[in-house]
Order: sequence, then structure tokens, then C-alpha cells
Amino acid sequence: MELAPFDKRDGFIWLNGSFVPWNDAKCHIITQGMHYASSVFEGERAYKGKIFKSKDHTRRLFKSADIIGIKIPYTQEEINQAKDELIKKMNFEDCYVRPIAWRGSQQMGLSTSNADINVAIAVWDDWASYFKIEDRKAGLKLITSPWKRPSPDTAPCEAKASGPYVICTMSKEFAEKKGYHDALMLDYRGYIAEGTGANIFFVKGDIIHTPIPDCFLNGITRQTVIQMLKDQDLTIEERHMKPEEIQNYEEAFLTGTAAEITPIQSIDDVKFTTGEDSKTYKFMQDFHNLVRS
Ligand code: PMP
Repeated sequence: MELAPFDKRDGFIWLNGSFVPWNDAKCHIITQGMHYASSVFEGERAYKGKIFKSKDHTRRLFKSADIIGIKIPYTQEEINQAKDELIKKMNFEDCYVRPIAWRGSQQMGLSTSNADINVAIAVWDDWASYFKIEDRKAGLKLITSPWKRPSPDTAPCEAKASGPYVICTMSKEFAEKKGYHDALMLDYRGYIAEGTGANIFFVKGDIIHTPIPDCFLNGITRQTVIQMLKDQDLTIEERHMKPEEIQNYEEAFLTGTAAEITPIQSIDDVKFTTGEDSKTYKFMQDFHNLVRS
């Protein structure tokens, strides 16, 4: 079934403090957030009507806003409550949650001194899986992107801000045009960083390796998965990883709110074990149970 585009749907969006009909939640073409990427956002998931780590996501939204100089005119409690009310109003059980804060139309140009701050929250339930379910089962094919994650003094790497996402969309487009599902992004030093919208892990025996998030988002899912694996007495090694070592690993997977745990079948020419007997498959099931518990 063809899904309706995102600006033509039923339901409500929380916009600057009230619930408005979905199709009326608009902003003007001349909006600073759109022209100069003056915006920060979150990606969250509700399972059985309850947002997983809702408060952590709200905290990150406010931190991202703070980093790029946006002062959100609501409290974290108000945002948490708005998210819960919206999910109830939309009658959703499992859904994706997208809060966003942006500089509006009061001021154009790069000055932010008179900018108005807007906040919206939308929820939708057709991202049951961010990657197609068949692709997730078989594992994703990744190609290394020519675009690098910038250094922390070049981009606000700890903020989930719209600006840095342009290298992610460019990398994703690069990958998809070549017939891959996603791209592996290296960082400005040439170390392995992450996928275009998810963190990355590698498995060898009982040791799980993952890059240090010193120039990209330390995902909430990443942190959850690390704790989950530690609770299983597995060893986690966080370190700077070079692309040459990819061939040494048996399995690899991505983690993210949208991606959850998604197995990787290959990165460039290197192939990994996937399928029901893989460790990653078990981790996927463990994660599935954890977020619903
Ligand atoms: N890196 C990038 C670039 C992302 O967009 C995301 C998704 N927010 C992540 C990592 C994973 O973050 P989280 O687990 O908090 O969703």
C-alpha cells in the first residue's frame, strides 16, 4: 500500500503548546530553521504506548538546543507530557516520535538575536522498521562513504542538530545509488565512525567492539545495547577502530532508535555472518524484549 506523504495525513501534531490538525501544522517558506539549519530534533520510539527512555531523549533535545544556542520555551516535563498525550490522542501503541525545535520566521539571515523559537512533536506508526524488514533479516550491505564525520571543533557533534545531517543524506544517497542499503562513515582522522543514522558494532567471539563516540552521537540505543551486553557478561571494547581491521570481525550491526539492532551483511568487500544462528540475531531478540519489558 502506498503511504500518504508526510504533509497529508490524519491526526494531530503538537505545535507550540497545542494540538493542531496534522495537515495544518505548517511553517512559512521564509523560516530561519530551514534556510540555515537552525534546528534540533529527536527520534524516539514508543512500545506498547510508552516511549523508551523518553526523559533521556528530552534531555538530549534540550542539550542539543543549548549547544546550538536555542532556548526551548518549555520545560522538559512539559515536553515529556506533550509526547505522552499526543501518543494517546493518536491512539498509537508502537510508534516513532519526532520532537523538533527550530528558529522561525521572525528574523532572517544568520543573526539569532531576535529569532522566535518553535517546537513541534509529531508521531507516526509506519516506521515499524526503519530499514525494510526483509533487508533487516538478511542484513544490510554498506559501502564506505566519501564523506567524513567532522572534528568536534568543526561541527556540533554532540548535538542532534539538522546541520550535520547533510553529510548523512549525501552519504545515504551515495550508497543507495550504488545499490547499497547504507554507508559506513569514517571520521576526520580516518577511524570508523558510524552509519548514516545509527551507531556501529563489530563482533569477534565474546568481545564486542565499537568506536569511541568522540565526534558523533553517543546514541541512546548504543548506550542501552552496551549495558545489555555487559549484563550478559560480554566484553565491550570501545576504541578507535581502523577500516583495515573490519575484515577481522565475524559479525557487525547498527544500533539506533529507528534502526534498533540491524545486522550488517557486508561492508564494501568484507562479508559477515548473519541469520538465526548469529550472535547479532540473539542480540536483536534480547533488545526486542528489553524495550518492551
Ligand atoms: N548517529 C546518528 C547520526 C543518528 O542519526 C542516530 C539516530 N538518532 C544515532 C547515531 C543513534 O542514536 P539513538 O540511538 O539515540 O537513536
